[in-house]
Amino acid sequence: MFKNLKDKLRKFKSKAEKELGEDDGKKPVKGGKPVKRVPVKGGKPAKKGIVRKRAGGKSSLDKLDKDEWAEVEKKPLLEDAEGGLLAKKITDKKLEDIIWELEVALHESDVAVPVVEEIKDYVAKELSGKKIKRSLDLGDVIESALKNAISNVLVTKYINFDKFINDHKKPVVLMFVGVNGTGKTTAIARIVHRLKGMKKSSVIAASDTFRAGAIEQLEKHATRLGVKLIKHQAGSDPAAIAYDAIEHAKARKKDVVLIDTAGRMQTNVNLMDEMKKIKRVAKPDMIIFVGDSLAGNDAIEQAIKFNDAVQIDAAILTKIDADAKGGAALSIAHAVGKPILFVGIGQEYDDLVPFNPEWMVQRLFE
Ligand code: GDP
Ligand code: GDP
Repeated sequence: MFKNLKDKLRKFKSKAEKELGEDDGKKPVKGGKPVKRVPVKGGKPAKKGIVRKRAGGKSSLDKLDKDEWAEVEKKPLLEDAEGGLLAKKITDKKLEDIIWELEVALHESDVAVPVVEEIKDYVAKELSGKKIKRSLDLGDVIESALKNAISNVLVTKYINFDKFINDHKKPVVLMFVGVNGTGKTTAIARIVHRLKGMKKSSVIAASDTFRAGAIEQLEKHATRLGVKLIKHQAGSDPAAIAYDAIEHAKARKKDVVLIDTAGRMQTNVNLMDEMKKIKRVAKPDMIIFVGDSLAGNDAIEQAIKFNDAVQIDAAILTKIDADAKGGAALSIAHAVGKPILFVGIGQEYDDLVPFNPEWMVQRLFE
């Protein structure tokens, strides 16, 4: 899972650590006490240098260039240096070089362009001009900047699925949309399985009347999971099937209706219109876009198009067990402003796990 991206982030971190950590020619002053920076001759950089003086102790002279001197003057003179080690500063020049490396790494992992920008800016801002105590590990500082940047792009309005189901008026209507082959049918079966675990009853609407075999595939799952499937003949009105399923749920006091819809390319106008009609008729409480993480930037493009057409509420990202790049997982929530609800991590019914930013960050840096 996310192997490429993980490797790239790790490489970035060690390269950044090396480049930012290169000796800048200034020796740290050792000792157990706070270090006082005292400008030579009443605050003027007369000798283009400062005396770093330990409180009541010896002093040493370090050469600073004009810009560095200006920086020093802006900052308070007294600088706490825990463990007696002087802080070193990340200069913008060095930062620029490594941020470029980060940009390349993210692009190579299929992270969407606006998300790359956001992560870059965040890391740059977090590291720029930062003084790092020599007693601190530079690698830790860089890793924490990366983690924060990644969490930042993953955070969107969080939906607790189980709570949503529990708290909502019954029947809760869920509508699933997405292109063919992304794992939509599988995702529906897995949600039914999850609902069963929560002691919630479900009914599935086979509103994918377009793809040959779609109804049979759902029927297999429904039988295996022991839930009712509402279906009509292939080719009948998908909105009518959804409507029937909701009526069935109301009559039998079922908790959740899951509506499968025909997988469609986001460019297929007729099918997109059909999907809008199902939405009009079924009035779903949640529209869930199912995307295939292996599709990378295509999955993002699809999510945007489906969101434009029916306003999705959340996404499920499948097959991340096979996804080395991780770009879609990083980009999708940011691109549509809707959270990832679950990710598919394998072939079993149980392999659908709730997604949150910490989960992703943990996997990227484990
Ligand atoms: P649909 O056309 O969107 O309904 O797609 P299906 O539900 O039929 O899934 C297409 C294929 O993807 C099937 O072979 C699934 O087993 C597989 N699949 C779905 N989700 C996952 C997942 O999370 N991981 C893996 N490895 N395969 C998955
Ligand atoms: P088969 O794939 O033709 O042997 O038929 P199955 O009854 O095993 O599966 C039907 C579809 O459901 C296939 O696309 C499976 O990949 C998919 N599927 C999704 N989730 C699961 C799961 O948890 N278990 C199994 N067995 N199949 C699953």
